[in-house]
Amino acid sequence: MASIFSKIVSGEIPCHKVHENDKFLAFLDINPLAKGHTLVIPKVEIDYIFEIDDALLGEMMVFAKKVGLAIEKVIPCQRIGVTVIGLEVPHAHIHLIPIHQISDMNFAKPKISISHEELGEIAAKIRSQF
Ligand code: 5GP
Repeated sequence: MASIFSKIVSGEIPCHKVHENDKFLAFLDINPLAKGHTLVIPKVEIDYIFEIDDALLGEMMVFAKKVGLAIEKVIPCQRIGVTVIGLEVPHAHIHLIPIHQISDMNFAKPKISISHEELGEIAAKIRSQF
């Protein structure tokens, strides 16, 4: 069965898209730790990040870097935290999270509450940087 992220890639499930190319897609996390929290995924469905072949993984990091730099321009933060967890969705993804302090990367704390309207506005601001 296709992962929820493959359904986002195919358009079956909507997302707040931030950036894409032929191989990767970046979209806002629906349950973010911070405003601007973005997920970067390969369009091809691969569960574990370390199952991605070296060349594609390298390209994915370069793509994530571009997205992170765009987020930084529109979301006030000290820098963009980068992490991979993958315990919930079996489709490799990099989390890009605008942070001010180490505790902003704590996935065990409650997520922020944010409307779809605001997510849409944030995604549009980040997209405007490309
Ligand atoms: P992980 O697999 O890294 O533990 O967490 C998966 C992340 O994907 C979570 O931060 C969760 O909020 C996000 N997520 C799960 N389902 C969806 C979805 O349908 N749309 C979006 N945009 N994000 C999702």
